[in-house]
Amino acid sequence: MNNSSTSRRRFLLSGAMGAAAAATGFAARAADASAAPAFDKVYDVIVVGSGFAGLAAALEASIGGAKVLLLEKMHAYGGNSAINGGAFSVAGSPLQKKYGIKDSPEQMLADMIRSGRGLSHVDLLKMVVEGSLPAYEFTLRHGVKYKDFVQHFGGHSVPRTLQTIESTGGGITRPLAESCKKHGVEMHLRAKMEEFILSPAGRVIGLKVRERYEFPNEASGVLQTYGARRGVVMATGGFSRNIWFRKQQDPQLDERLDSTNHPGATGDGLLKMLSIGGAPVQIDQIQLGPWTSPDERGFGLVSQFNTIAGFPMGIMVDVRTGRRFCNELADRKERTDAILGLMENGKPVYPVCFTDAKGVAKAQTLKNGLKYGVIKKFDKLEDLAKAYGIPVEPFVKQVDEFNAMVKQKNDTQFHRALDLAIVLDKAPFYACRVWPKVHYCMGGVGITKNAEVYKVDGSIIPGLFAAGEVTGGTHGASRLGGCAIADGLVMGRIAAQSALKLAPVSL
Ligand code: ADP
Repeated sequence: MNNSSTSRRRFLLSGAMGAAAAATGFAARAADASAAPAFDKVYDVIVVGSGFAGLAAALEASIGGAKVLLLEKMHAYGGNSAINGGAFSVAGSPLQKKYGIKDSPEQMLADMIRSGRGLSHVDLLKMVVEGSLPAYEFTLRHGVKYKDFVQHFGGHSVPRTLQTIESTGGGITRPLAESCKKHGVEMHLRAKMEEFILSPAGRVIGLKVRERYEFPNEASGVLQTYGARRGVVMATGGFSRNIWFRKQQDPQLDERLDSTNHPGATGDGLLKMLSIGGAPVQIDQIQLGPWTSPDERGFGLVSQFNTIAGFPMGIMVDVRTGRRFCNELADRKERTDAILGLMENGKPVYPVCFTDAKGVAKAQTLKNGLKYGVIKKFDKLEDLAKAYGIPVEPFVKQVDEFNAMVKQKNDTQFHRALDLAIVLDKAPFYACRVWPKVHYCMGGVGITKNAEVYKVDGSIIPGLFAAGEVTGGTHGASRLGGCAIADGLVMGRIAAQSALKLAPVSL
C-alpha cells in the first residue's frame, strides 16, 4: 500500500454519494478543481482483478506508458484464470498450420454463434475471434509456453484448442503477472475494490479500496482512496460462487451444485457496476461444465481427463442402459442438459465416461486421478460395467457399435466429429463418473466493442471499462471451451487501449 504524503482526504464521492450530490446541485460547485476529492494516491489507470482480463489490461496500459495500479482481493493473483485447464482456442494458429488443420476467424465465429443460440452479441464475438491470434502472440511475447499439439474441444468444428505446458491457466497468469511487475505495474494483493468514486458529472475518477482485506471478512483491513486519471478497468470475473445471486437468476443452480470456481468468484465487482447504473446483460445465462466429477470438489482432476481423453477419445454412457446418450463433443450446454436429464426421482444418476489405454496417452491428470480414486482402471470392459452397475451385455454391444462407427468415420448415433476418436479395444480401460458443476457466467455488465461500460439507458459510464467474465452477451447461451482466455486477453487489452485514449481528468 502506498500513501501519498500530500494526500488529505477532504471528501469522497462514492457512487451513491455522487448521485446525491449531483441531485442537490453540488455538481456545479464541484466543477471547480479546488473542490475535487483528494486521493491517497493517483494513477492513470486502475485495473481491478488479476485474471486473464485484468493482467492483460494492466500490461497493455503499462506498456502504453500509463502509471498503473492492479488490485486483487485474494491472497494470490490469477482468480479462476489460474485454476482452469489453460486451454486457449485460437483461430489459425501456427500449430494448426503445422498439423494441416484448416481454420479461420470466420469458421470460429460461426461455431461460437451456433453455440450462443441466437443470444451472442456478434460485434463483441468478432472482436474476440479476430483478436485471438494476436492475443496468443502477446502471450508468447510474455513467456507463455504451449504443448505441441492441438485439441478438439466440444462445439468447435475443428481442433483449435492449445494448452499451456502446465495444463493450467496459471501457465498464462504467472508469466503475465511477472511481466506486469517488470513493466512497472504496481500490484496490490488483498486489496478489494469497494466503491466507485464518481465526479459530479458521473465520470469514474477513482476507487475506495479495502487494503489488507482478508476474504471473506468484509470489515477487515483499512480503507484507502485511489484516483484514476484515465479510467478504471473492471476485470473482476463471474459470480458462480455467489449462491444467493446465481439462484435468483436460475433457481435450479442451488446449493446442491458444486462449482469449478475459486471461492472469490462472488460477483462483487459486477454488483458494484450495476449499483451505479451499469446495464445488466443476460445475467441468467450461467454455464455448467459437463466434464466434472461428483467424486471430487471443484475443477478437480477429472475435468482435464475428460476434455483431453474421455470425451474426444472415449464415450459416455447412461449406467442404467449401458448406452451413449449424447454427442460427447457437443457444446457445453447440449452435454450438460443431456446429463442433467439423467435425474431420477430428484436424484442424479451419474453417467460414466471411459477410454482405453491408447486414449489416455496425453491425459496428464490420469496418474493423480487414479491415486485419488476419481479415475478407475479396469482390465476388461465387463469389470468396468460391473463396478458401476452397468448392464454388461448392452454396454459391450454399445462399445462394439461405437468402434464400428469410428472405423466408418460416421457417428450415426449422435453425429459427433470422429477425427480424434479411436477404436476402444486396448486394455486397460480408464473410467470416471461425471456430473456438471457451475463453471462460467456468460452474463454480466454490458460493454461496447471498445470495452466501455454501458449504462442502463444505453449511454456509457465515462471512465469505466470492463473485460472478461464480468461482462455479458459475448457468448450468448453457451460459451465454447477455450474461449474465456481469448475473451479475457483480447478485451482486457482493448479496455486498456480505450482508457489510454480517454482525455485524462486532472486529479
Ligand atoms: P477473468 O477470467 O474474467 O479475468 P478471473 O475470475 O480469472 O476473471 O479473475 C477475476 C479476479 O478478480 C479474481 O482473482 C478475483 O479475486 C478478483 N476480484 C473480484 N472482485 C474483486 C474486487 N472487488 N476487488 C479486487 N479484486 C477482485
